[in-house]
Amino acid sequence: MLFSAITLLRCECGEVHPAALTFKPDRARFVCANCLGRERGAREAVCARCGKIEPIHNHHVRGRDVSEDTVEWCINCHQKYHRGRSVQAIEKRKN
Ligand SMILES: [Zn+2]
Ligand SMILES: [Zn+2]
Ligand SMILES: [Zn+2]
Repeated sequence: MLFSAITLLRCECGEVHPAALTFKPDRARFVCANCLGRERGAREAVCARCGKIEPIHNHHVRGRDVSEDTVEWCINCHQKYHRGRSVQAIEKRKN
């Protein structure tokens, strides 16, 4: 039997980007990284990428090995950026 919830690629908060979503079998639905971070009690601040108040994960601007410079991005923006980078099709769709 197929999970009918698989077609529901969407978090309760409205996040629909596949890179930000994780399927939670115990809840039979997708939950985004920001909502999971919030449940873990992650520190929240204004994300420098999407401008919303979300759980923050520092992003290394020029790469962890090159520089200690970081910006405050929410976890969802982070996942979209990093996973998107490995998929050229997503890079080309950038607007
Ligand atoms: Zn969410
Ligand atoms: Zn963000
Ligand atoms: Zn990063």
